[in-house]
Parts: sequence; C-alpha cells; structure tokens
Amino acid sequence: MDLARFPRVRLAHAPTPLEPLDGLRKPLGGGPRLWVKRDDATGLAGGGNKTRKLEYLLGAALAEGADCVVTTGGVQSNHARQTAAAAARLGLACELVLTRVVPDRPPGYETTGNVLLEHLLGARVHIRDGDTDRTAAMDAVADEARAKGAKPYIVPTGGSNRTGALGYARAALELVGQAAERDLRIDHVVHASSSGGTQAGLAAGLHLLGHPARVTGVDVEADAAATEAGVRALASEVASALGSRKPLPEAVVQVLAGHAGPAYGVPTGAMAAAVRRVARTDGLLLDPVYSGKAMAGLIALTEQGAFRDDENVVFLHTGGMPSIFAYGDSLATTT
Ligand SMILES: *Cc1c(COP(=O)(O)O)cnc(C)c1O
Repeated sequence: MDLARFPRVRLAHAPTPLEPLDGLRKPLGGGPRLWVKRDDATGLAGGGNKTRKLEYLLGAALAEGADCVVTTGGVQSNHARQTAAAAARLGLACELVLTRVVPDRPPGYETTGNVLLEHLLGARVHIRDGDTDRTAAMDAVADEARAKGAKPYIVPTGGSNRTGALGYARAALELVGQAAERDLRIDHVVHASSSGGTQAGLAAGLHLLGHPARVTGVDVEADAAATEAGVRALASEVASALGSRKPLPEAVVQVLAGHAGPAYGVPTGAMAAAVRRVARTDGLLLDPVYSGKAMAGLIALTEQGAFRDDENVVFLHTGGMPSIFAYGDSLATTT
C-alpha cells in the first residue's frame, strides 16, 4: 500500500486512542468485547473523521497552489466545520455551501453547533435551499472567487473522493498497528456511513493489508443500497490508486440498513437512546446524525447475537459532537 506518493499535510492528532468500551458491554449482558477507536479525538476544532481525509485533500490543494477551499454539506455538516478549521490552520480562505436538507429543524439550527464554530473559524457560510445542486452552487462560488483573483480548490460532500478516502486507508494501517502492539485480534469494525469515503478507505485499506476484520457501515442516509453502491465504487478506486490490480471482493463492503430512520439528519428514538446510554455507561458523547445511529446499529447487532462472545468489535467513533447543540429538542431530557 503505497501512500507516500500522495501529498499530505498533517492535521490530525494520530494515532487516535483505541479504548475499551466496557461500560456499555455490561448492561448488554456479556457478548463480544467492545472497543472504541477515538476518531472523534482527531484534534482539529472539535475533531472527527473528516480531518484524516482533509490531510490528503488539502495536501493536494496546496500542491496545486490553491489559496481558497470551497466545500459543501448539510447545515450542520461536521465536514464543513473541520474544513473551515483546516483552512484557517493552513492560511487558506474557506467558502462553505450548506444546504437545508433536514426538514423540521428547531430555531437555532442554522446558527448554533457547527455553524457557530464555522463563523468563529473565519469561513464564509452560504446557506441554500435543500434542493440546491451542490456541485453547481460550489462552482458558482468558486467562479466568484476566481473573478477576485483567488485560486479555489473544490472538495466534494464529506471529502469523499479518491483523494479524501486515502485518509482512511491510512487509518486502516494505524488500527492494524495498534492491534498488533497489544496482541488484539480485531474481528469487526462498525461505524456510520454516509458519503462513503470513510468506509471505502478503511475497507480497501484493511483488504490490501490482508487483514480479516469485517467492516460494517451503518447507513445514515436512509438509502442503504445507494450508500453501499457509493462505498463500493469508491473502495475500488482507492484500491487501484494504492496499486491493487485485482477487483475488490464483494464481501469487503457491507452496509447495514434500518437505523437511519425516515431520512438523513432526522432524529430517531433508538438514536437518542443510544446517545444517552453511552454517555452514561462510558462518559462518551456521540452525535445525533451519525455516530448515535451507528451505535443504535451496533447495539441491535449485539442483541441479535451477530457477534461471538470471543470476538473483538471496534466502534469507530467518527465525531460530530458539536451538532448535539443543534438537536437539543430531541436529546434534552431530565430522566
Ligand atoms: C461525515 C461523517 C460520517 C460519515 O462519513 P462518510 O465518510 O461521509 O461516510 C460519520 N460520522 C460523522 C460524525 C461524520 O461527520
């Protein structure tokens, strides 16, 4: 796996910790040993999984001589927040096109959480309707920047293209190294999957390393078939970029349906229960859009007996904590 030929800037605190998740395991009544890989602790202005992707994306941007980065996401995009922070760190201007894709959000949704942090970090925020064509809107913002003499670099939703996904091939290398150091056999990795770069990089990376751990992406888009197709296509691209000449086996990419609720970003009861539960068993904060739904998926799999008692399951915590503040309506509780 030849990662060295791709330009990269250091942004993440890595390796991120790999910690036991024993508090959660007890009330589940035994079952597999649970671990958490703390990619919520990548260290960049609140952390999260996009920081690893941005190491390669902004490495490419700097190599091209860009002085401005343009990206997109939903209003409470963690990717947008991490991009704003990375741009600030590297001295680049940052333009964020945020679309109102989540219906029925309470007052404050467009000013608190990640949006508040983006303003603090000095990004320009452009909020658009939910049906906006993100690519076209980013092109328009980039054209405007070019007209003023800037050299923009465009990063797609979630930083999920071949370049961004390299960050998670690198994370596969890191995780395998951590497991080897402590004689730990990792059997499964579970995490939230949305734009697909995390799972594509991780699954392709583990496969190329010959590691047998199975990766399950929990769909949070409420369209698991589309998520899986996206991950599969991107995983193949990453594998060939890293020098693999054989097609990726089908089984390398598994996306789990049934935990997203009615739509992306819409809270579910199982999500709120999972967020509350892990906060109280392990002092660990998940988020309402991604890691809370992924944890609901992991809890359900464990209760269904999907793992053997002697297996080790790693929950990849992808971050997202700032959006808790935009979801007070569904997470605030006195019980
Ligand atoms: C973006 C994001 C994900 C999903 O990662 P993808 O690479 O887009 O599939 C998961 N969790 C959090 C907190 C995120 O911000």
